[in-house]
Amino acid sequence: MADLVSTADHILPIVPIRDGVVFPGTEMILTFGRQRSVSAIEAASSSGKRVILVMQKNPNINDPTPSDLYTTATVGEIVQMMKNEGEINALVRGIAKVEILSYEAVEPYFVGRYVPVPDSFEEGDEMKALTNHLTSELRRAVNMGKSMDFLTFMNIMSGLDAVALSHQVAGVLDIKPAERQDLLETTSVKVRLEKEAGFLSRETKILELEKKIANKTQEKFDKNVREQVLRERMKTIEKELGEEGENKEFKELSDKIKKAGMPPEVREKAEKELSRLIQMSQYNPESSYVRTYLDWLVELPWAVASANNVNISDAETVLNEDHYGLKKIKERILEYLAVMKLRAKAEEQEEAQEKQKRTKDEVKRKGKAAPTILCFVGPPGVGKTSIGKSIARSLGRKFVKISLGGIRDEAEIRGHRRTYVGALPGRIIQGVKQAGTKNPVFMLDEIDKVGTDFRGDPSAALLEALDPEQNYAFSDHYLEVPFDLSDVFFITTCNILDTIPPALRDRLEVIHFPGYTEEEKFHIGRDFLFEKQRGIHGIPKDTVKLSDSAIYEIIRRYTREAGVRNLEREEATLFRKIAKKIADSNGKAKKIFAIGPKDLHTYLGPYKFTSYLAEKKDEIGMSTGLAWTEAGGDILFIEVALMPGRGSLTLTGQLGDVMKESGQAALSYVRSRWKVLGLPEKFFQKLDVHIHVPEGAVPKDGPSAGGAIGTALVSALTKIPIKRTVAMTGEITLRGRVLEIGGVKEKVIAAHRAGIKTLILPKNNKKDLEDIPKSVLDDLSFHFVEHMDEVLKIALAKPIVRSEKKMLSSPSSRPHAHLMA
Ligand code: ADP
Repeated sequence: MADLVSTADHILPIVPIRDGVVFPGTEMILTFGRQRSVSAIEAASSSGKRVILVMQKNPNINDPTPSDLYTTATVGEIVQMMKNEGEINALVRGIAKVEILSYEAVEPYFVGRYVPVPDSFEEGDEMKALTNHLTSELRRAVNMGKSMDFLTFMNIMSGLDAVALSHQVAGVLDIKPAERQDLLETTSVKVRLEKEAGFLSRETKILELEKKIANKTQEKFDKNVREQVLRERMKTIEKELGEEGENKEFKELSDKIKKAGMPPEVREKAEKELSRLIQMSQYNPESSYVRTYLDWLVELPWAVASANNVNISDAETVLNEDHYGLKKIKERILEYLAVMKLRAKAEEQEEAQEKQKRTKDEVKRKGKAAPTILCFVGPPGVGKTSIGKSIARSLGRKFVKISLGGIRDEAEIRGHRRTYVGALPGRIIQGVKQAGTKNPVFMLDEIDKVGTDFRGDPSAALLEALDPEQNYAFSDHYLEVPFDLSDVFFITTCNILDTIPPALRDRLEVIHFPGYTEEEKFHIGRDFLFEKQRGIHGIPKDTVKLSDSAIYEIIRRYTREAGVRNLEREEATLFRKIAKKIADSNGKAKKIFAIGPKDLHTYLGPYKFTSYLAEKKDEIGMSTGLAWTEAGGDILFIEVALMPGRGSLTLTGQLGDVMKESGQAALSYVRSRWKVLGLPEKFFQKLDVHIHVPEGAVPKDGPSAGGAIGTALVSALTKIPIKRTVAMTGEITLRGRVLEIGGVKEKVIAAHRAGIKTLILPKNNKKDLEDIPKSVLDDLSFHFVEHMDEVLKIALAKPIVRSEKKMLSSPSSRPHAHLMA
């Protein structure tokens, strides 16, 4: 710069530049085409190689006059130049900032007089901070994509002084020509640096924005291109593999959807899923899920129904054809069917009327099925399932049965959501699909065995399926679309009613199957099961003759049940053995197998039940009670053993709390009645009492054995035997009153089955004998009692003697009654 200042006369050629500023210390390649400029450069290059470079105020003026030019300019040095077809390309380097004072010549080129313009500059921390900031900002901008010459960048980064830095940065800024000129005219280095920092930060902001926009556009572009490429590739692969057969499958699916008779919203869903499937590559694992789902949708009987004509007399014929006895039950079922028929008719009319007024949906919402669901309650093997099948047969509908025993998970009823791996619809929808019609007779077996746990409440889902108010749109999680269950004829079955949740129980029309008498079993065994099993085992008609007494023998000696399941099983065994004999003999077997009671051992093995009560003798301290369990009614024995001891009571045989308490109550009753029973006052102090109810593996509970326990205790203490053919049931109070109990029907039938002749029942249970078959009632003698005293009178083989001498004074002095049978 000093060099310049000392330039002798401060006169140099002036070259106008349309829109650029050369800052001192920076280099630039400029192209000169205008005649005046070319002449000026040529003149300069042959003398001191220096020119004044000045910017036009308006770049569009082709032939500017001095007034069109700014006055602040730069003295530049021509480093290199090249002439090319009248134009000159020259590399010029800025030397110093000058002010043009006047124009000395205009032709052939501008010549002007100038003075140098020194910068004002103060060193200090602020300046340092400013220069640091500027370099780091510049670095950031470059990192963000600002384009600039690498050498220039390195030069700036190498640590220039503030003045040089300001010029260098000014040269690389992306700013308007006027802004450049303004920077050149700014003499304060500090102000110039500040302005430059401002421009730089504006630039980085713009870069940032640009980057964002660029990223977004790129992403979008990438995604589109990628998808397109993949799709094309997939198509090619499929074509190569000859998998155009897929299209055929899609076509078939689409046809099935059209034919399935789905409601509009279901069809819409199915079509949506189908188009999703078509879009998917078959190698996409999801495609198989979608396919399974669509298969379910198209295979459900949305519109398939059996003809719905209930003919009551036909139904009666069918029920009688298939079942012996069950008169009352058949009657109830026929009544139910009649009501169903009437309701259906009434609803049809109502629907027709209302259709004109309301939307279809509202009409439907009223529900069409019968208001309650049939529930068959009874022990196993009493014909619940087979009556259900007969109902289906008589109505001409399909029959399906699902067992709910042990279900704890709501998803078993309502299905898993499709997101769940291996998801399937619940059992209700599975059953409907299995039936293939939307109006099957649908048996839900063992609803008393439905449990609840953390996986939701299956009974709530069941309720929704059974409730005619809701089941027109039953929602299965897997299907995702509602299915109309309102035409399904639901029948539920259970062994006991107690464990069914009340909300569900309210919906049920309960029909009790109390269990069969011996005679009924005989008829079923002879007239139904025999033929059925013969057919199953392929034995020709009239080959086997089973005598009536043999059938009775099977019932008594090989089975002990409320139903006829084991009877059927034993008959099956019989036919199996005979079938084997026929097969083994190669046609040489005898033509007819006549089987009497004596032959049973050969076919069925030894007796399974020998303790036929009527054949046993009376015993001390052992009474016969009656129980009522899931398997129907049964008899139970109560044994009492007395031992020398200190007045403790032990109760064993898997007794529930209620039964234990009734044992204690019975003992307290006996102790309080010592006088009447002819016992010494403190008889209990030197005794231990053990009450046991055999078949210890079977849990027992309930208060109804109170009377039987009391009787056994009295018998053990007084040493008076109990009549073996007497059985009793009834709860007792501490004062010996006998209270009403449940399950009388089943208990009476069980007692009859076991060979009991006399039954002692609470007086208030007299009403329960109504439904019991006459043949049973005729065989038994009944005593209806109110007090234990009456029980003892009937049950004990001898009356109680009140002689002090006969008393059990001390267990050690007398042999104690040890009565374990
Ligand atoms: P549940 O469903 O009550 O357990 P099932 O319906 O399975 O009992 O009956 C068991 C067997 O006994 C079936 O073969 C059935 O046909 C037969 N059965 C039951 N009751 C009768 C009856 N009253 N008449 C004819 N067969 C009967």
